[in-house]
Amino acid sequence: MIGREGLRPELLERTILALADVREPQGVLAGIARLLETETGCPCTLLAPDRVPPELSAAVPATSVWRSGDRAIVAAIVDGELRAGFSLRCAHELSDDDVRTLRLVSAHASLALSNALAFDQLRHHAREGAALGEAARTVLGFTELQPLAAALCALARRFFNAERSVLYGRTGDELRVLGSSAVAGAPGMPGRLPLDRDEADALMATSAEQRAFALAALRLPAHDGEDRSGLLAVMRVAPFEKADHRLLDGLVTLAALAIRNVELYEESARANRALAESNAFKDDLMAMFAHDFKGPLTVISGFTELMLEDGLEGEQRTAAQTVLAQAGRLAKLSEDALALASTHSAGFSLRRVREDLVPFVGEAVRDANAGGERIELTAPTEPLEVLFDRSRLRHALENLLGNALKYSADPVEVRVSATPAEALIEVRDRGIGIPAAEIERIFTRFGRASNARDRRFAGTGIGLYIARKIVDVHGGRLTVSSLEGEGATFTIGLPRE
Ligand code: ADP
Repeated sequence: MIGREGLRPELLERTILALADVREPQGVLAGIARLLETETGCPCTLLAPDRVPPELSAAVPATSVWRSGDRAIVAAIVDGELRAGFSLRCAHELSDDDVRTLRLVSAHASLALSNALAFDQLRHHAREGAALGEAARTVLGFTELQPLAAALCALARRFFNAERSVLYGRTGDELRVLGSSAVAGAPGMPGRLPLDRDEADALMATSAEQRAFALAALRLPAHDGEDRSGLLAVMRVAPFEKADHRLLDGLVTLAALAIRNVELYEESARANRALAESNAFKDDLMAMFAHDFKGPLTVISGFTELMLEDGLEGEQRTAAQTVLAQAGRLAKLSEDALALASTHSAGFSLRRVREDLVPFVGEAVRDANAGGERIELTAPTEPLEVLFDRSRLRHALENLLGNALKYSADPVEVRVSATPAEALIEVRDRGIGIPAAEIERIFTRFGRASNARDRRFAGTGIGLYIARKIVDVHGGRLTVSSLEGEGATFTIGLPRE
């Protein structure tokens, strides 16, 4: 007891023993207060740091006990920072011995508090890590801002056991609510906040009805030269500790990332939509032109053929033949353009019929040879039945035959054969061939090999693209083997079943 006989020295030992196992900082402080009260027999009140007399605060850490007559305040100090005070009001004046003993109590209490704080920090770190991991899993997958804001606020409310959490985003010259989450009956928070952080803070303090609240600034990378700030605000009854602020900061960093994700997703979705629209427009336009070419071309070819039959002579005959050939080329081009447009639309469907492939290929070869007999056909004598769309496959085959004739001056071989699984049509020429590195490029849209970009070989680079598309939708394959300068063999393989 404090009194004439002074504080008993065992008090010191008890302080140490009693607090050795306490892990909670608040528990340590309460334990010290209880201990002081029982050991001194004087009422003891726990003081927050800002309630400790300035004389003591100023003297920290040199003096850890403040005395004035029958009153004493024992300080708990960690890392030179005053964390709490224990106010004792005794019936007798405190002796110098009492004060010395209380100083030792203070030193040991400070040590116990420091341990508890360190332990608490470790625990908080573990909690922060787990919480942020969960938050990352939750928020990084969002593609829209509204649901993301709602999910973020719900997380913040749960993490901090809060009554309300609000995410504010910049709109013009103020911050407006993007999303919120609250328990029933929770006090409100302002719907708008000024951009100035201190003003926002003050406004929040007045609206928070004595609740504790914590704000964390959200920094989004500047976009189009615009500052895009935001705030995450959390309100609860219990005060916020350092570790809570750390977790809140971690959460807003994640939030900024998640919001940027949403923005990037929206940007790319917008770009895709614009691209799809312009593609659809282009395809429609192309289909319209290609289709409307057909009529006039048929008339031109028809009349030119008639003129030739009527026995045109000399230069006039040559001119008419050129007109016919060019009209044929134009017809081919418009057919490719029409097919190219339709490969993008739902209209690219097949009308498949099971029939013999041999006469079908024979017919295509005969028509291609119409001018000057350069293609030789080798085909089995027995029928080779396959399911295919006549007009589409004819288009693909014509493209291969036309290329073989265009890129080679020598005879072209066409071979029809079969394996148990496939019907094969090979088109072999001994022309310019394709450079090995460019083999895949020639099947892409507008893809042409470097050795074909010569005035002799006029072309658009869409024929093979269309041919492969057509064979693909048949469930087949279009492949090529070639050596540059030695020719090329294109093979269409169609499934037999
Ligand atoms: P185009 O012949 O109009 O350029 P294609 O799509 O039909 O377009 O062919 C794409 C490219 O593939 C051609 O530009 C050419 O480089 C190459 N190619 C196609 N067929 C042959 C062939 N038989 N021999 C050599 N190169 C060819």
